Amino acid sequence: MARYTGPACKLCRREGEKLFLKGERCYTTKCALERRAYAPGEHGRMRQTGRDSDYSRQLRAKQKARRVYGVLEKQFRRYFDVARKRPGMTGLTLLQTLESRLDNVVYRMGYAPSRTAARQLVTHGHFLVNGTRTDVPSMMLKTNDVISVHPESRKNEYFKIMIEEAAQRTCAAWIKRDLDHLSGQILRVPERAEIDGNLNEQLIVEYYSR
Ligand code: SF4
Repeated sequence: MARYTGPACKLCRREGEKLFLKGERCYTTKCALERRAYAPGEHGRMRQTGRDSDYSRQLRAKQKARRVYGVLEKQFRRYFDVARKRPGMTGLTLLQTLESRLDNVVYRMGYAPSRTAARQLVTHGHFLVNGTRTDVPSMMLKTNDVISVHPESRKNEYFKIMIEEAAQRTCAAWIKRDLDHLSGQILRVPERAEIDGNLNEQLIVEYYSR
């Protein structure tokens, strides 16, 4: 599956806010937004005019969500179409669908510093879902699914250090984490308050409903 491979910080600068795409670095003064808090490109500084149209705000809301979860347009659109067909609020269902991706769950459990890092760990085959090895970051998880680090991978230096690092990170309330066994179980679907508050799902729905 294709993915964006350009500079991550450029995406934050374009959205004008931290999207936390690079893990620990995002919390330091090395963060590009701390040093260049304007959009990238020759006319980047001129873009901050504050005179955004409705379309522009809808587009930016959609792009931001795509970038936070590391999903390309085609796949994001597919998630939206599936969410629209389900009962309930489309925007919330879309966010819940994005949250149930395997790479996001690994990140939410605190086993990776960012979704990008989580994605890489998954593609390298370090995780099992219900006992079966998988290398598909977009795999959709459901309630009661169990995610665990592959027994072979536990000998890996990264995971030895990661146990301590993960202990410092909070685990999402809708996942039960077991640090001793390097695993976790999905307890339920996340509620809106447990998903990033700076995402505006209403604008995303408006964008695709034009
Ligand atoms: Fe965004 Fe992190 Fe880069 Fe800062 S360091 S601009 S938060 S990806």
